[in-house]
Amino acid sequence: MLNSGSSSIKYQLFDMDSLAVLASGMVERIGEAQGHIIHKVRGSGSEDEKTIRRSLPVADHRQGFELMGQILSETGAIRHTSELAAMGHRVVHGGEKFQAPVIITEEVMETIRGLIPLAPLHNPANLTGIQVAREYAPEVRQVAVFDTAFHQTIPEHAYLYALPRSLYEKLQVRRYGFHGTSHFFVAKEAAVHLGRDFSDTNLITLHLGNGASIAAIKNGRCVDTSMGMTPLAGLIMGTRCGDLDPAIIFYLARETGMGLQELDALLNHDSGLKGICGDNDMRRITECAAQGDVHAELALDMFCYRIRKYIGSYLAVLGRVDALVFTGGIGENAAIVREKVCFGLAALGMGIAREKNLAATKGLRELQQDDGPLKVLVIPTNEELEIARQTIDVLLRRASCD
Ligand code: ADP
Repeated sequence: MLNSGSSSIKYQLFDMDSLAVLASGMVERIGEAQGHIIHKVRGSGSEDEKTIRRSLPVADHRQGFELMGQILSETGAIRHTSELAAMGHRVVHGGEKFQAPVIITEEVMETIRGLIPLAPLHNPANLTGIQVAREYAPEVRQVAVFDTAFHQTIPEHAYLYALPRSLYEKLQVRRYGFHGTSHFFVAKEAAVHLGRDFSDTNLITLHLGNGASIAAIKNGRCVDTSMGMTPLAGLIMGTRCGDLDPAIIFYLARETGMGLQELDALLNHDSGLKGICGDNDMRRITECAAQGDVHAELALDMFCYRIRKYIGSYLAVLGRVDALVFTGGIGENAAIVREKVCFGLAALGMGIAREKNLAATKGLRELQQDDGPLKVLVIPTNEELEIARQTIDVLLRRASCD
Protein backbone atom coordinates (compact mmCIF):
# COMPACT_ATOMS: atom_id res chain seq x y z
CA MET A 1 0.00 0.00 0.00
CA LEU A 2 1.40 3.38 -0.97
CA ASN A 3 0.38 6.88 0.01
CA SER A 4 2.46 9.43 -1.89
CA GLY A 5 2.42 13.03 -0.74
CA SER A 6 4.29 15.95 -2.25
CA SER A 7 7.37 15.30 -0.08
CA SER A 8 6.71 11.88 1.42
CA ILE A 9 5.94 8.25 0.63
CA LYS A 10 4.16 6.14 3.25
CA TYR A 11 4.08 2.40 2.67
CA GLN A 12 2.91 -0.86 4.22
CA LEU A 13 3.74 -4.34 3.03
CA PHE A 14 0.93 -6.87 3.53
CA ASP A 15 0.90 -10.63 3.31
CA MET A 16 -1.74 -11.19 0.66
CA ASP A 17 -3.32 -14.25 2.29
CA SER A 18 -3.45 -13.23 5.96
CA LEU A 19 -3.36 -9.44 5.38
CA ALA A 20 -0.81 -9.26 8.20
CA VAL A 21 1.49 -6.23 8.04
CA LEU A 22 5.03 -7.48 7.34
CA ALA A 23 6.70 -4.07 7.25
CA SER A 24 5.78 -0.41 7.15
CA GLY A 25 7.51 2.89 6.87
CA MET A 26 7.79 6.36 5.54
CA VAL A 27 10.28 8.27 3.42
CA GLU A 28 9.89 11.95 4.29
CA ARG A 29 11.33 15.34 3.45
CA ILE A 30 11.89 14.32 -0.17
CA GLY A 31 13.61 17.13 -2.05
CA GLU A 32 14.90 18.81 1.15
CA ALA A 33 18.53 19.05 2.22
CA GLN A 34 18.09 16.20 4.69
CA GLY A 35 15.54 13.44 4.16
CA HIS A 36 14.50 10.63 6.53
CA ILE A 37 13.40 7.08 6.26
CA ILE A 38 11.69 5.28 9.13
CA HIS A 39 11.12 1.59 8.55
CA LYS A 40 9.41 -0.89 10.87
CA VAL A 41 9.89 -4.60 10.55
CA ARG A 42 7.01 -6.52 12.08
CA GLY A 43 7.52 -9.86 13.77
CA SER A 44 4.82 -12.13 15.14
CA GLY A 45 4.63 -10.21 18.43
CA SER A 46 5.02 -6.53 19.25
CA GLU A 47 8.32 -7.29 21.02
CA ASP A 48 9.67 -8.48 17.66
CA GLU A 49 9.08 -5.08 16.11
CA LYS A 50 12.27 -3.36 15.00
CA THR A 51 12.59 0.24 13.84
CA ILE A 52 15.29 1.39 11.46
CA ARG A 53 15.94 5.11 11.01
CA ARG A 54 18.17 6.73 8.45
CA SER A 55 18.85 10.34 7.58
CA LEU A 56 20.13 11.15 4.11
CA PRO A 57 19.20 13.45 1.25
CA VAL A 58 16.38 12.00 -0.90
CA ALA A 59 16.38 13.94 -4.17
CA ASP A 60 13.01 12.83 -5.55
CA HIS A 61 10.27 10.20 -5.35
CA ARG A 62 12.26 7.87 -7.62
CA GLN A 63 15.09 7.81 -5.09
CA GLY A 64 12.51 7.43 -2.32
CA PHE A 65 11.23 4.25 -4.00
CA GLU A 66 14.76 2.93 -4.41
CA LEU A 67 15.44 3.47 -0.70
CA MET A 68 12.21 1.75 0.22
CA GLY A 69 13.05 -1.20 -2.07
CA GLN A 70 16.58 -1.38 -0.65
CA ILE A 71 15.46 -1.44 2.97
CA LEU A 72 12.70 -3.99 2.22
CA SER A 73 15.22 -6.30 0.64
CA GLU A 74 17.96 -5.70 3.28
CA THR A 75 15.53 -6.65 6.03
CA GLY A 76 14.40 -9.73 4.12
CA ALA A 77 10.77 -8.58 3.68
CA ILE A 78 10.96 -9.05 -0.09
CA ARG A 79 13.96 -9.79 -2.26
CA HIS A 80 12.61 -8.29 -5.46
CA THR A 81 9.57 -6.28 -6.53
CA SER A 82 8.48 -9.21 -8.73
CA GLU A 83 7.39 -10.90 -5.48
CA LEU A 84 4.65 -8.29 -5.09
CA ALA A 85 1.13 -9.21 -6.25
CA ALA A 86 0.27 -5.53 -6.68
CA MET A 87 0.83 -2.05 -5.34
CA GLY A 88 -2.29 -0.23 -4.09
CA HIS A 89 -2.10 3.56 -4.28
CA ARG A 90 -4.17 5.99 -2.30
CA VAL A 91 -5.59 8.62 -4.68
CA VAL A 92 -7.41 11.54 -3.09
CA HIS A 93 -9.76 12.62 -5.88
CA GLY A 94 -11.55 10.34 -8.30
CA GLY A 95 -14.22 12.88 -9.23
CA GLU A 96 -17.30 11.24 -10.75
CA LYS A 97 -15.10 8.99 -12.87
CA PHE A 98 -14.23 6.38 -10.26
CA GLN A 99 -16.83 4.70 -8.06
CA ALA A 100 -14.50 1.81 -7.21
CA PRO A 101 -10.80 0.95 -7.22
CA VAL A 102 -9.22 0.26 -10.62
CA ILE A 103 -6.12 -1.27 -12.14
CA ILE A 104 -3.99 1.63 -13.33
CA THR A 105 -3.49 2.03 -17.07
CA GLU A 106 -2.29 5.02 -19.12
CA GLU A 107 -5.96 5.96 -19.56
CA VAL A 108 -6.62 5.84 -15.81
CA MET A 109 -3.59 8.06 -15.21
CA GLU A 110 -4.82 10.50 -17.79
CA THR A 111 -8.22 10.64 -16.07
CA ILE A 112 -6.60 11.23 -12.66
CA ARG A 113 -4.51 13.97 -14.29
CA GLY A 114 -7.69 15.53 -15.65
CA LEU A 115 -8.99 15.75 -12.07
CA ILE A 116 -6.03 17.84 -10.84
CA PRO A 117 -8.06 21.09 -10.87
CA LEU A 118 -10.36 19.48 -8.27
CA ALA A 119 -7.44 18.41 -6.01
CA PRO A 120 -4.46 20.57 -6.97
CA LEU A 121 -2.41 19.66 -3.90
CA HIS A 122 -3.06 15.92 -3.69
CA ASN A 123 -3.63 14.37 -7.11
CA PRO A 124 -0.28 15.52 -8.58
CA ALA A 125 1.62 13.94 -5.67
CA ASN A 126 -0.44 10.74 -5.92
CA LEU A 127 0.29 10.65 -9.66
CA THR A 128 4.01 11.11 -9.11
CA GLY A 129 3.94 8.09 -6.79
CA ILE A 130 2.08 6.02 -9.38
CA GLN A 131 4.38 7.09 -12.19
CA VAL A 132 7.51 6.27 -10.24
CA ALA A 133 6.06 2.94 -9.06
CA ARG A 134 5.28 1.94 -12.66
CA GLU A 135 8.82 2.76 -13.75
CA TYR A 136 10.39 1.20 -10.68
CA ALA A 137 8.43 -2.06 -10.86
CA PRO A 138 6.97 -2.36 -14.38
CA GLU A 139 6.07 -6.02 -13.84
CA VAL A 140 3.80 -5.24 -10.84
CA ARG A 141 0.13 -4.35 -11.24
CA GLN A 142 -0.73 -0.93 -9.84
CA VAL A 143 -4.18 -0.26 -8.38
CA ALA A 144 -5.74 3.11 -7.49
CA VAL A 145 -8.07 3.37 -4.47
CA PHE A 146 -9.95 6.68 -4.27
CA ASP A 147 -10.85 8.69 -1.14
CA THR A 148 -13.97 9.93 -2.92
CA ALA A 149 -15.27 6.57 -4.22
CA PHE A 150 -17.40 5.55 -1.21
CA HIS A 151 -19.31 8.84 -1.44
CA GLN A 152 -20.29 8.36 -5.07
CA THR A 153 -23.62 6.84 -3.96
CA ILE A 154 -24.72 10.21 -2.51
CA PRO A 155 -27.92 11.15 -4.35
CA GLU A 156 -28.16 14.21 -6.58
CA HIS A 157 -30.32 16.18 -4.12
CA ALA A 158 -27.47 15.89 -1.57
CA TYR A 159 -24.46 16.34 -3.83
CA LEU A 160 -25.64 19.34 -5.84
CA TYR A 161 -25.11 22.89 -4.59
CA ALA A 162 -27.84 25.46 -5.07
CA LEU A 163 -25.91 27.08 -7.91
CA PRO A 164 -26.68 27.37 -11.62
CA ARG A 165 -26.73 23.82 -12.99
CA SER A 166 -24.26 24.76 -15.72
CA LEU A 167 -21.51 25.02 -13.07
CA TYR A 168 -22.01 21.35 -12.29
CA GLU A 169 -22.26 20.35 -15.93
CA LYS A 170 -19.33 22.40 -17.22
CA LEU A 171 -17.04 22.62 -14.20
CA GLN A 172 -18.02 19.59 -12.05
CA VAL A 173 -18.94 21.82 -9.11
CA ARG A 174 -20.63 19.41 -6.66
CA ARG A 175 -20.09 17.68 -3.32
CA TYR A 176 -17.60 14.79 -3.57
CA GLY A 177 -16.65 14.06 0.05
CA PHE A 178 -13.34 12.64 1.30
CA HIS A 179 -12.04 10.14 3.91
CA GLY A 180 -14.20 7.59 2.03
CA THR A 181 -11.78 4.73 2.67
CA SER A 182 -11.94 5.34 6.42
CA HIS A 183 -15.74 5.76 6.58
CA PHE A 184 -16.17 2.57 4.53
CA PHE A 185 -13.71 0.60 6.68
CA VAL A 186 -15.29 1.49 10.03
CA ALA A 187 -18.81 1.12 8.63
CA LYS A 188 -18.11 -2.46 7.57
CA GLU A 189 -16.46 -3.20 10.93
CA ALA A 190 -19.54 -1.78 12.67
CA ALA A 191 -21.90 -3.97 10.64
CA VAL A 192 -19.85 -7.09 11.50
CA HIS A 193 -19.86 -6.10 15.19
CA LEU A 194 -23.62 -5.49 15.13
CA GLY A 195 -24.16 -8.83 13.39
CA ARG A 196 -26.06 -7.11 10.58
CA ASP A 197 -25.81 -7.39 6.83
CA PHE A 198 -23.94 -4.33 5.61
CA SER A 199 -26.72 -3.75 3.08
CA ASP A 200 -29.18 -3.45 5.99
CA THR A 201 -27.08 -1.21 8.25
CA ASN A 202 -27.66 2.48 8.92
CA LEU A 203 -24.80 4.40 10.50
CA ILE A 204 -23.44 7.82 11.27
CA THR A 205 -19.64 7.63 11.07
CA LEU A 206 -17.38 10.35 12.43
CA HIS A 207 -13.79 10.51 11.20
CA LEU A 208 -12.09 13.01 13.51
CA GLY A 209 -8.39 13.55 12.81
CA ASN A 210 -6.50 16.61 11.61
CA GLY A 211 -9.12 16.67 8.90
CA ALA A 212 -12.62 15.75 10.05
CA SER A 213 -15.78 14.57 8.37
CA ILE A 214 -19.06 12.83 9.12
CA ALA A 215 -21.00 10.47 6.87
CA ALA A 216 -24.60 9.26 6.80
CA ILE A 217 -24.78 5.65 5.64
CA LYS A 218 -28.11 4.06 4.70
CA ASN A 219 -28.30 0.35 3.89
CA GLY A 220 -24.51 0.23 3.54
CA ARG A 221 -24.37 3.11 1.06
CA CYS A 222 -23.20 6.64 1.78
CA VAL A 223 -26.07 9.12 1.34
CA ASP A 224 -24.43 12.30 2.63
CA THR A 225 -21.16 13.61 4.02
CA SER A 226 -19.92 16.89 5.45
CA MET A 227 -16.92 17.57 3.21
CA GLY A 228 -17.85 19.10 -0.10
CA MET A 229 -16.24 19.78 -3.42
CA THR A 230 -13.05 20.19 -1.38
CA PRO A 231 -12.05 19.03 2.13
CA LEU A 232 -12.63 22.56 3.47
CA ALA A 233 -16.36 22.13 4.12
CA GLY A 234 -18.27 20.74 7.07
CA LEU A 235 -16.84 20.16 10.53
CA ILE A 236 -14.33 22.41 12.27
CA MET A 237 -10.87 20.88 11.71
CA GLY A 238 -7.30 21.39 12.92
CA THR A 239 -6.63 24.34 10.66
CA ARG A 240 -9.68 24.40 8.33
CA CYS A 241 -12.78 26.42 9.09
CA GLY A 242 -15.42 23.97 7.84
CA ASP A 243 -18.84 25.45 7.01
CA LEU A 244 -18.84 29.21 6.57
CA ASP A 245 -21.14 31.88 5.19
CA PRO A 246 -19.59 32.26 1.70
CA ALA A 247 -20.25 36.00 1.76
CA ILE A 248 -17.60 36.35 4.50
CA ILE A 249 -15.00 35.76 1.78
CA PHE A 250 -16.28 38.70 -0.31
CA TYR A 251 -16.46 40.85 2.81
CA LEU A 252 -12.87 40.04 3.79
CA ALA A 253 -11.63 40.67 0.26
CA ARG A 254 -13.34 44.07 0.23
CA GLU A 255 -12.38 45.14 3.74
CA THR A 256 -8.79 43.83 3.89
CA GLY A 257 -7.74 43.64 0.25
CA MET A 258 -6.71 40.02 0.74
CA GLY A 259 -6.22 38.15 -2.51
CA LEU A 260 -7.37 34.67 -3.44
CA GLN A 261 -4.20 32.96 -2.24
CA GLU A 262 -4.24 34.69 1.12
CA LEU A 263 -7.90 33.86 1.64
CA ASP A 264 -7.26 30.27 0.66
CA ALA A 265 -4.40 30.08 3.18
CA LEU A 266 -6.50 31.78 5.87
CA LEU A 267 -9.39 29.31 5.56
CA ASN A 268 -7.27 26.17 5.01
CA HIS A 269 -4.25 26.75 7.25
CA ASP A 270 -5.00 29.41 9.87
CA SER A 271 -8.61 28.70 10.80
CA GLY A 272 -10.37 25.82 12.57
CA LEU A 273 -9.08 24.95 16.03
CA LYS A 274 -5.88 26.90 15.32
CA GLY A 275 -7.85 30.02 14.45
CA ILE A 276 -9.98 29.79 17.58
CA CYS A 277 -7.31 29.03 20.17
CA GLY A 278 -3.93 29.19 18.43
CA ASP A 279 -3.34 25.42 18.50
CA ASN A 280 -4.45 22.69 16.14
CA ASP A 281 -3.42 19.69 18.21
CA MET A 282 -6.41 18.25 20.06
CA ARG A 283 -4.25 16.57 22.68
CA ARG A 284 -2.75 19.92 23.74
CA ILE A 285 -6.14 21.66 23.45
CA THR A 286 -7.81 19.21 25.83
CA GLU A 287 -4.90 19.63 28.27
CA CYS A 288 -5.11 23.43 28.12
CA ALA A 289 -8.92 23.36 28.44
CA ALA A 290 -8.61 21.16 31.54
CA GLN A 291 -6.29 23.81 33.04
CA GLY A 292 -8.91 26.49 32.45
CA ASP A 293 -7.63 28.10 29.22
CA VAL A 294 -10.81 29.79 27.99
CA HIS A 295 -9.82 29.84 24.32
CA ALA A 296 -8.96 26.13 24.33
CA GLU A 297 -12.29 25.44 26.08
CA LEU A 298 -14.13 27.45 23.44
CA ALA A 299 -12.34 25.63 20.60
CA LEU A 300 -13.35 22.30 22.13
CA ASP A 301 -16.95 23.42 22.59
CA MET A 302 -17.23 24.80 19.06
CA PHE A 303 -15.67 21.66 17.58
CA CYS A 304 -18.16 19.41 19.41
CA TYR A 305 -21.17 21.68 18.83
CA ARG A 306 -20.65 21.57 15.05
CA ILE A 307 -20.51 17.76 15.18
CA ARG A 308 -23.75 17.61 17.22
CA LYS A 309 -25.54 19.75 14.63
CA TYR A 310 -24.48 17.35 11.89
CA ILE A 311 -25.51 14.30 13.92
CA GLY A 312 -28.97 15.84 14.36
CA SER A 313 -29.34 16.51 10.66
CA TYR A 314 -28.10 13.04 9.68
CA LEU A 315 -30.57 11.46 12.12
CA ALA A 316 -33.27 13.27 10.16
CA VAL A 317 -31.72 12.09 6.86
CA LEU A 318 -31.52 8.45 7.95
CA GLY A 319 -34.60 7.97 10.12
CA ARG A 320 -33.29 4.76 11.69
CA VAL A 321 -29.69 4.65 12.93
CA ASP A 322 -28.08 1.44 14.20
CA ALA A 323 -24.87 3.00 15.51
CA LEU A 324 -22.85 6.17 15.83
CA VAL A 325 -19.18 5.44 15.17
CA PHE A 326 -16.17 7.48 16.32
CA THR A 327 -12.82 7.05 14.57
CA GLY A 328 -9.59 8.95 13.69
CA GLY A 329 -6.94 10.22 16.12
CA ILE A 330 -9.44 12.42 17.99
CA GLY A 331 -12.46 10.10 17.70
CA GLU A 332 -10.47 7.14 18.99
CA ASN A 333 -8.54 8.89 21.77
CA ALA A 334 -10.23 12.05 23.01
CA ALA A 335 -12.82 10.93 25.58
CA ILE A 336 -13.72 14.54 26.36
CA VAL A 337 -14.70 15.11 22.72
CA ARG A 338 -16.94 12.02 22.69
CA GLU A 339 -18.48 13.13 25.99
CA LYS A 340 -19.24 16.63 24.73
CA VAL A 341 -20.54 15.39 21.38
CA CYS A 342 -22.94 12.93 23.00
CA PHE A 343 -23.93 15.19 25.92
CA GLY A 344 -27.69 15.67 25.82
CA LEU A 345 -28.14 13.13 23.02
CA ALA A 346 -29.60 10.46 25.33
CA ALA A 347 -33.10 11.49 24.17
CA LEU A 348 -31.97 10.66 20.63
CA GLY A 349 -30.61 7.30 21.78
CA MET A 350 -26.97 8.36 21.77
CA GLY A 351 -26.19 8.78 25.45
CA ILE A 352 -22.87 7.28 26.52
CA ALA A 353 -21.81 5.68 29.82
CA ARG A 354 -19.13 7.78 31.51
CA GLU A 355 -16.98 4.90 32.78
CA LYS A 356 -17.04 3.12 29.39
CA ASN A 357 -16.02 6.34 27.66
CA LEU A 358 -13.13 6.93 30.06
CA ALA A 359 -11.83 3.32 30.06
CA ALA A 360 -8.29 3.21 28.70
CA THR A 361 -9.15 0.42 26.25
CA LYS A 362 -7.91 0.27 22.69
CA GLY A 363 -9.68 -1.46 19.84
CA LEU A 364 -13.38 -1.62 19.00
CA ARG A 365 -15.55 -0.76 21.99
CA GLU A 366 -19.13 0.12 22.90
CA LEU A 367 -19.91 3.29 24.87
CA GLN A 368 -23.71 3.47 24.98
CA GLN A 369 -25.62 3.46 28.24
CA ASP A 370 -26.87 0.04 29.32
CA ASP A 371 -30.42 0.77 28.19
CA GLY A 372 -29.29 2.75 25.12
CA PRO A 373 -31.43 1.87 22.07
CA LEU A 374 -28.54 2.21 19.65
CA LYS A 375 -24.83 1.54 19.82
CA VAL A 376 -22.21 4.23 20.20
CA LEU A 377 -18.94 2.68 19.02
CA VAL A 378 -15.26 3.57 18.89
CA ILE A 379 -13.64 1.75 15.97
CA PRO A 380 -9.95 2.33 15.15
CA THR A 381 -9.68 3.10 11.47
CA ASN A 382 -7.21 1.35 9.20
CA GLU A 383 -7.15 3.00 5.79
CA GLU A 384 -3.99 1.11 4.79
CA LEU A 385 -5.65 -2.25 5.41
CA GLU A 386 -8.74 -1.11 3.50
CA ILE A 387 -6.58 -0.07 0.53
CA ALA A 388 -4.84 -3.47 0.64
CA ARG A 389 -8.21 -5.27 0.78
CA GLN A 390 -9.62 -3.26 -2.11
CA THR A 391 -6.45 -3.84 -4.14
CA ILE A 392 -6.80 -7.59 -3.67
CA ASP A 393 -10.53 -7.40 -4.56
CA VAL A 394 -9.65 -5.73 -7.86
CA LEU A 395 -7.08 -8.43 -8.65
CA LEU A 396 -9.55 -11.21 -7.83
CA ARG A 397 -12.29 -9.57 -9.91
CA ARG A 398 -9.88 -9.21 -12.82
CA ALA A 399 -8.80 -12.85 -12.42
CA SER A 400 -12.40 -14.04 -12.54
CA CYS A 401 -12.98 -12.04 -15.76
CA ASP A 402 -9.83 -13.38 -17.51
P1 ADP B 1 -4.58 12.62 10.39
O1 ADP B 1 -5.88 13.21 9.99
O2 ADP B 1 -3.40 13.47 10.05
O3 ADP B 1 -4.43 11.16 10.02
P2 ADP B 1 -4.99 11.64 13.08
O4 ADP B 1 -6.18 10.79 12.71
O5 ADP B 1 -3.76 10.93 13.52
O6 ADP B 1 -4.61 12.68 11.96
O7 ADP B 1 -5.47 12.62 14.25
C1 ADP B 1 -4.65 13.63 14.74
C2 ADP B 1 -5.38 14.34 15.86
O8 ADP B 1 -5.69 13.40 16.89
C3 ADP B 1 -4.54 15.44 16.50
O9 ADP B 1 -5.36 16.58 16.74
C4 ADP B 1 -4.13 14.79 17.83
O10 ADP B 1 -3.91 15.75 18.82
C5 ADP B 1 -5.36 13.99 18.14
N1 ADP B 1 -5.07 12.99 19.18
C6 ADP B 1 -4.29 11.91 19.10
N2 ADP B 1 -4.23 11.28 20.30
C7 ADP B 1 -4.99 12.00 21.16
C8 ADP B 1 -5.35 11.90 22.53
N3 ADP B 1 -4.89 10.89 23.31
N4 ADP B 1 -6.18 12.82 23.07
C9 ADP B 1 -6.64 13.84 22.31
N5 ADP B 1 -6.35 14.00 21.02
C10 ADP B 1 -5.54 13.10 20.45
